[in-house]
Amino acid sequence: MATGNAIRGTRVGSGPMGESERGESAQRIVVSFWCSNGHHTQPSFAHDAELPTTWDCPRCGLPANTDEKNPPPARRTEPYKTHLAYVKERRSDADGEALLEEALAKLRARRGEN
Ligand SMILES: [Zn+2]
Repeated sequence: MATGNAIRGTRVGSGPMGESERGESAQRIVVSFWCSNGHHTQPSFAHDAELPTTWDCPRCGLPANTDEKNPPPARRTEPYKTHLAYVKERRSDADGEALLEEALAKLRARRGEN
């Protein structure tokens, strides 16, 4: 039996060996993840893939893990993005106001001159 396989393998070797192997490993492993909002998601992985220990919840984006009773804590702050956006927003608001006032002052001054 083993010999037969070896011979066949050698023959097919130049051909679609990879394909048949991929077909055999088509089985998937389904892993359950829970986020701190209680969302349950079940991504599947190739059986020989390295299984992640955390997963981003597809519903709310929070980190999820495989421990239903102890999901990872929600990220309170989106570290840089929110803060930067906030600062930018404030700055541009202030700048915008300053620029507007400056422009208005110039306009008024010009009108006054005319
Ligand atoms: Zn979620």
